[in-house]
Amino acid sequence: MLILVVNCGSSSVKYKLMDMKEEKALLSGLAERIGLPGSRIKHKKNDGKELQLEQDLPDHKAALEKIIECITDKEYGAVNDISEIAAVGHRVVHGGEKFNKAVLINEELIDTLESLYELAPLHNPPNVLGIKTCQELMPHAPQVGVFDTAFHQTIPDYAFNYALPYEYYEKYGIRKYGFHGTSHKYVSGRAAAILGKPLTDLKVIVCHLGNGSSITAVKNGQSVDTTMGFTPLAGLPMGTRSGDIDPAIVPFLMEKENLSPEEVSNIMNKKSGVLGVSGISSDFRDLENAQAEGNKRAELALNMFIYHVKKWIGAFSAAMGGLDVVVFTGGIGENAIDLRAKVLADMSYLGIEVDSDRNNVRGKEAIITKEGCSTVAMVVPTNEELMIAKETQALVIK
Ligand code: AMP
Repeated sequence: MLILVVNCGSSSVKYKLMDMKEEKALLSGLAERIGLPGSRIKHKKNDGKELQLEQDLPDHKAALEKIIECITDKEYGAVNDISEIAAVGHRVVHGGEKFNKAVLINEELIDTLESLYELAPLHNPPNVLGIKTCQELMPHAPQVGVFDTAFHQTIPDYAFNYALPYEYYEKYGIRKYGFHGTSHKYVSGRAAAILGKPLTDLKVIVCHLGNGSSITAVKNGQSVDTTMGFTPLAGLPMGTRSGDIDPAIVPFLMEKENLSPEEVSNIMNKKSGVLGVSGISSDFRDLENAQAEGNKRAELALNMFIYHVKKWIGAFSAAMGGLDVVVFTGGIGENAIDLRAKVLADMSYLGIEVDSDRNNVRGKEAIITKEGCSTVAMVVPTNEELMIAKETQALVIK
């Protein structure tokens, strides 16, 4: 069975064609700068053949039409006809409280998704536009929505509520939702499979550390708490996002710097995090290089990030009453060897001792703690597209 996985952003479409027999991608690509000057498509087949199209893409429909041409191309494609694609799985950022699992899309569900725009005004509208456009261009294929928030719907009320007047939860749905759910679910499942233990018997902490970072406590297979909140701005300091700060800083800054709500939100989302602290870059490779050259603010940014990851591992171990496995994933989690070692240093109180040879690994599944540790630390590369394709397949095979 072939499943197309689509992730529509406001000016981009990412896609991957998955062969579910092999659980492998046949091709993948990215259309970017949609509706802007300089739009293009980068397309790659798994045999290494690449295509770069500098192409006017006025809207998402034009982009998806061109993507379908690439997928069915004799040289660069993987199918003769688009009808060979059995279903399309869409990443949808916000499912609110309405969706605790993936869903087969129908007209009524589109209305429900549109009712959630307020919760994710930047992400959900392009996600829904992608679903509608794929329905139009591939009417034979069932469309499935897979939500970033769904895995976290098991978080208990005492963990997801904010201590604000309760009416704001009732009126506006202000609560913790959590994000990266597809990744946390995939990675915790893989970790259990690698260890040969049932996920339902384990207390797992997944550290998804990338441009956006979040940590989730997965107890007996269910998310019981996570660091992101009402929006993906909460929790850890990230590439450009502040993560948790004292909320009183927001009105203080607005007054001092004469900022509008949009301006202060822009600062916290785009100009903060390790970029804001270091003044250099949001990319951890740049920060590690700058630190090696003696840059103190790069060092501070890295130390802050490491400290917060460490703190959340402790907090979630307490929340779960123990810890069996801690897993690193995402661009940083999978690749930053030194950072992982520093996060896990002095954790023998949790039964963790890093093996420096085992930890010398990038982008591969590996156990990185010493033999015999009571708590295992691992690296598991995330594969959100495979998870979306699996959830899509489960819904379309009856
Ligand atoms: P992601 O959002 O999961 O794709 O992660 C992207 C981020 O991973 C980049 O911005 C880098 O900060 C980080 N990253 C990628 N490779 C490395 C590496 N070798 N060492 C440290 N950080 C890395």
